[in-house]
Amino acid sequence: MTSADTLKGFKRDGRVVIVGASLAGLRAAEALRDEGFTGSLTMIGDELGEPYDRPPLSKQVLTGWVPAGGTTLPRRRDINAEWLLGVPADGLDLATNHVHLADGREVPFDRVLISTGVRARPWFVETEAALDGVFVVRTREHADGLQQALAAGPSRVLVIGAGFTGSEIASICRERDIPVTVAELAPAPLVGALGAVIGDVAADMQRAHGVDLRCGVKVTQLEGDAQGRFHRAHFDDGSTIDADVAVVALGGIRNTEWLRDSGLAAGPWGIACDTGCRALDLNGLITDDIFVAGDVARCPNPIYEYRLISLEHWVNAVEQAQVAAHNMVSAQADRWPHLSIPTFWSIQFGVNIKSVGVPTFADEVVVTQGSVPDHRFVAAYGYQGRVTAAVSFNNAKWLDHYRQLIETAAPFPPPCPTPDEPVDAKPVPVDFPGPRLLAQGATVVVTGHDPSERRVTAAWQHR
Ligand SMILES: Cc1cc2nc3c(=O)[nH]c(=O)nc-3n(C[C@H](O)[C@H](O)[C@H](O)COP(=O)(O)OP(=O)(O)OC[C@H]3O[C@@H](n4cnc5c(N)ncnc54)[C@H](O)[C@@H]3O)c2cc1C
Repeated sequence: MTSADTLKGFKRDGRVVIVGASLAGLRAAEALRDEGFTGSLTMIGDELGEPYDRPPLSKQVLTGWVPAGGTTLPRRRDINAEWLLGVPADGLDLATNHVHLADGREVPFDRVLISTGVRARPWFVETEAALDGVFVVRTREHADGLQQALAAGPSRVLVIGAGFTGSEIASICRERDIPVTVAELAPAPLVGALGAVIGDVAADMQRAHGVDLRCGVKVTQLEGDAQGRFHRAHFDDGSTIDADVAVVALGGIRNTEWLRDSGLAAGPWGIACDTGCRALDLNGLITDDIFVAGDVARCPNPIYEYRLISLEHWVNAVEQAQVAAHNMVSAQADRWPHLSIPTFWSIQFGVNIKSVGVPTFADEVVVTQGSVPDHRFVAAYGYQGRVTAAVSFNNAKWLDHYRQLIETAAPFPPPCPTPDEPVDAKPVPVDFPGPRLLAQGATVVVTGHDPSERRVTAAWQHR
């Protein structure tokens, strides 16, 4: 039998299992059927219910405009799948091609797509995280619980962490006229994603909307009352604040622990793959039948010196799912590389923030058009003399122009494409927080001396 016959047979009668039944998983399933895959399709997900959309959870759901249950993802087509929901996968056996489920079932596959995403990083003290009034926001249930707590009219909300999710939640609190304190270890909000220049703009925006923003501080303790309700937070500078609700917005943890013994390159940084979304094994060798998509994937991007990049972006999850699905049913020569330029959006304090490219891949930033004080501008990011990213505040229509500059490695700083050039358009250092805030420790060690013996062993330190 030729390899073309084998592929044809797989497309007709093969078994595909998708682990992680959310945005990337659903879109990949739809794309597989669009590609003519008629074999069996199994969707494994640890959440119950239909796949739903997460961006509204920190936006429309918290304002009360959209009920948490109203976020179900629209279906693009029938996927004719078997759904195994409410039970997590807890192992992947590549010797026998089986996914193990936590309830003991084993699901065989010919090809598997892993799209297990990210979960919210919980507050680091379990008893404090369990206090009534302490929330994270990743799932529909989380958002529903927080929405109800906001609707009850708390005297104050404390948001811990001023990344995108924390900042959006603070914005909703102000919209609902709820006093809110935001505590951030870095010098400004959004600084880890967009650098200090834009971070300062975000800080001004928060303060102008009445947020009690405290940067460069660490929350050390969440204190409960006799009824087990959160009522006070302690900071590392010795100060305290009284609040009824605390939202822990400290980013995510990639859901890879279940792959611990799989032999895949899976760890706290995600699951490494090639641009065709094929997973790498622990030694960095490409696998054949294991694909990855969405927030859990760590994919090289040629534009960014082939560095492996993990993105928690909605558009990336959809596009990677499409590429992974296509490649699952294609011969090597017909496979697509996932080469898109990342995009992200956020809405906070009445401002539509959008980005294109990878702002952290930069050494300089310059405001290229518009006015920072008016919160209507575009800033371009540059790395060693070429454009690598751009962020817009209420000026998204220009981002396509910057996408083209990134794709063509255009020189940095780029000229202003409109007459509204800022008077002092000079590049300045981008100023991202140092490794103290970003390091996650060793994840692998190498053993053996002879090239035929040298192997990688995982050193698991999920935190
Ligand atoms: C509050 C919030 C706001 C956001 N806002 C924006 C925004 O404004 N713009 C933007 O671009 N992006 C935003 N995002 C990010 C966007 O939602 C994600 O990029 C997208 O959800 C990624 O989809 P995914 O399918 O890869 O992962 P997920 O949506 O995380 O889905 C992974 C699924 O796998 C399940 N799972 C995990 N482990 C297992 C296991 N072992 N077995 C079975 N199932 C498992 C999970 O429970 C989950 O259902 C936001 C995310 C959140 C949480």
